[in-house]
Amino acid sequence: MMARIICFGIAGFALGLMGCHSPAKPPLKRFEFTQPQMGLPFRIVLYARAESIARTAADAAFARVAELNAVFSDYDSDSELSRLSQTSGKHQAVRVSRELWDVLRESQRLAEDSEGAFDITVGPLVNLWRKARREKQLPRGDLFQDARSRVGYRKITLHRKEQTVELIAPNMRLDLGAIAKGYAIDEALGVLRARGISRALVSGGGDMAAGSPPPGRKGWRIEVAPLDVSNAPPARFVLLAHHGLATSGDVFQRLELDGKRYSHIVDPRTGLGLTDHSLVTVIARDCTTADSLATAISVLGPEKGMALLARRRGTEVHIVRMPGSEVEITESPSFRRFEGR
Ligand code: AMP
Ligand code: MG
Repeated sequence: MMARIICFGIAGFALGLMGCHSPAKPPLKRFEFTQPQMGLPFRIVLYARAESIARTAADAAFARVAELNAVFSDYDSDSELSRLSQTSGKHQAVRVSRELWDVLRESQRLAEDSEGAFDITVGPLVNLWRKARREKQLPRGDLFQDARSRVGYRKITLHRKEQTVELIAPNMRLDLGAIAKGYAIDEALGVLRARGISRALVSGGGDMAAGSPPPGRKGWRIEVAPLDVSNAPPARFVLLAHHGLATSGDVFQRLELDGKRYSHIVDPRTGLGLTDHSLVTVIARDCTTADSLATAISVLGPEKGMALLARRRGTEVHIVRMPGSEVEITESPSFRRFEGR
């Protein structure tokens, strides 16, 4: 989903002292790199003292995202995730990589906390709704029932000690579309940090993680995704540093039939695509948390969503909904702390 990056601050300044014996360091300069990753445009903006340093670091960060895509992709039938899905219903406990384990464990924790609103077993339903969007037709009843029978987060068993995973029902299909991008963005920022680049912003399709701000700035200036309706409220801006931000909503991917708009986000408890036209922006300490919470809160709605948020320290949310003809805004009390021009 989209949150526009408006401005990245002024170029850095030289810290070298005139008259010292050691030569002055070159000034920090702003660099920007874009690459398609995980089927989306990924973007890295960073400050470094030389283009060669910036480029090498960005290449390493993009390479890490590509590596993670080979773990998490549900499009690639050879990814670690797809291979795991293929073992479902076969009574196999499969040992998984550290990365997949981290994401599965975090997903299951959120599934419990959100009473099943967040559920990575939604793959069969997501596929049905994807097809429905392509064909502009609601899913057939028997296919819908079959997909529902293969969904449910309790059908995943995690064996913590052995770090193995068992998928209990046959023909399950795991889908990490609501969390893996956030994890990859965090990892990419980590790669930059490990290379000594702290002033950086990594974004993928609008979700992002920020490190230290641009020189002389308090944060990276980000526009909170606006709702695409004529009576939408004015744009909001936040200043982001050392946090992740993610937006979930149905503005770009939806099916319109008989006056109803079905989102690509599915309520696993009913099997239906969401219809309440909303945009949920979460700020959290990292993008994995922001990404997954934004999807969970989209399903839960403002009231239950805020209750879930209150149980996660350091998280804020801004929700814009248009369930009928009126635009409704709900915001956590400290969201304003991030606001800036
Ligand atoms: P996001 O854009 O981060 O909200 O993620 C949406 C994607 O997550 C969808 O395209 C599906 O692949 C997947 N998804 C849909 N509904 C759910 C859900 N209730 N829980 C977890 N993942 C979901
Ligand atoms: Mg998400």
